[in-house]
Parts: sequence; C-alpha cells; structure tokens
Amino acid sequence: MIVIRSEFDGFCAGIRRAVSICAGLRNESDGCRRIRLSHLICHNREVNERLGIKVVADADFVGNGMETGLTVVIGAHGVGKGFSEKCAGIRNLKMVSAVCPVVDRNLNEIKRLAALDKLDRLLVYLGKNGHAEADAAREWMPDGSFFIACAEDAKRLADSGELNGAKVELMVQTSFSDAVFDAVCAVFRRAGVAFEVFDSICSDCMNRRKDAVRIAEECDAVVIVGDGISSNAVELAEIVRRHGKSAFVAMNASEMDVILDSGVVNGRARVGLISSASSSKEIFEEVLARLEAWYG
Ligand code: SF4
Repeated sequence: MIVIRSEFDGFCAGIRRAVSICAGLRNESDGCRRIRLSHLICHNREVNERLGIKVVADADFVGNGMETGLTVVIGAHGVGKGFSEKCAGIRNLKMVSAVCPVVDRNLNEIKRLAALDKLDRLLVYLGKNGHAEADAAREWMPDGSFFIACAEDAKRLADSGELNGAKVELMVQTSFSDAVFDAVCAVFRRAGVAFEVFDSICSDCMNRRKDAVRIAEECDAVVIVGDGISSNAVELAEIVRRHGKSAFVAMNASEMDVILDSGVVNGRARVGLISSASSSKEIFEEVLARLEAWYG
C-alpha cells in the first residue's frame, strides 16, 4: 500500500492562531485553572482535550454567576450577542478573542448592518443550524434578515415575495458546502433576486476541497483526519465520495485503529490522507504512523 499525503496536513491559519492564543494564555496563567472557553476552540474534540481548557456552559453565566478573575476565550467561530452581553456584565472577567479573522470579518459586517438606522439591503445568511459560527451570526443579524440552510429554504424565501424589489446581501458560513452555496445562488438567479455575495466560503476550505478531489482521483480510498462534528471534515469526506471513492474520517490514531481493524481499508493499493482545518499536524502524523505501521 502507498499512502499519498496531502499538503494540507494540519490546522488552517484561523485555528492555528486560536490554539496558539490559548496555549499562550495557559503558559502565562500557569495552567488552565483560571481560563475558560466560550465554546470548543474548534470542531475537534481531540484538539480540545489536548488543550485542556474547560468550555463554559451558558447556564453557568446565567444561573451560578462566574467566579471572579477568570479569562474567557472566545473560540475561533465567534459568539452571539447574548453571550457577549452577559460577559460584559460580569465584573473582573477578562475576555480574549481567538475568533478567526475570516469569521470576524463576516460578524463585523453583520454588526455594521445591524447598527444602521435604515437598511439599504436585506441580509440573507446561509449556514448550518447549530453550528457555532452560524448561531453567532444569527444572533447579531438585524431585524428583517433571513437565515437559510439549504437551496429549498432559498426557493421558499424567493417564492414568498419577501425579497421582491430588495437588494440582497448573501453571506455564507465560512466552512459551508460550496455545492449547496452554488445551488442557492442558482435559485436566486432563476427567481430574479438582485443579490451580491459578501465574501464567501473561506479560501483555505476551498483549497483543501480541491486537494481532496486530486487525492480522490489518485487513490482507492481517502482518510480525512478530523472530527465527525466538523463541517469541514464532513464536506471533505462527501467530496471524496462524490468522486466515487471511499472516505473515512479519523479524529485520532485510536479511531484510525478502529477503521483498520474493521478491514474496510484492506486491499487498497493507494490510500490518501488529508487533514481537516481543525486537526493539528501532530494528530495527522500520529494517524499517518498508524496507517503505515498497519501495512508494515
Ligand atoms: S476554515 Fe477558514 S474561516 Fe474557518 S477557522 Fe479556518 S481560516 Fe478561519
């Protein structure tokens, strides 16, 4: 068996920066006791486990108050208005942003629109329900904006007449599926909606997806190093499958063992390996070592 490794073998720039902010705080604070995270630092439970910083549940803020003198780090995907305002009301609480600059640009545009007395355009946000970034965006959106999750939602919205005669700003979650994004744009074009796209899917995600296609074409199966809760990892696996090849998602070396033990990779001459944006180079190398050891 030959392993073909992608040039994408670790974090994207946004997650690398977020993890390094946390690591810096942990060193300065002599451990994690006085540090909390707003959410997982990224959608990878192994990375969060290794970082060792507790995630604060929203209920802690509301019900029990916060211990004083804590530092709360806002994770790479940002936080909503509710969380932000609650933190601002707590004395002796230091907030540190580890929000990815690409995500931050979108959130700042939403906040800018929300602060206007009169909107000159309607915001339509395309994202995944329950994803931290999309949930944060939703909370900051000005009244009269629309949140959609798929092309069917876009069609219903266009058919409702709510967008008639309006200028629409279409914003998309940075790690969203480009196939669904393209389908939404096609629906709006067919319906004659006048829209402009504010930024788009993150270029790191798009480049990884291109490389997943290249690797899928060269290999019999592809392992995505990432967590199944990551939109980015799931999208890479779907791209590989759309290209007719088997895809497996392994969060760490132990999950790679489970995949290898199940026998699904047996007999594959060429196996590709690519990292999702929220998986570290360290984990990538551990998974690679396990794969290579299995085949001697
Ligand atoms: S995938 Fe892109 S948008 Fe998401 S954290 Fe990484 S750099 Fe930022």
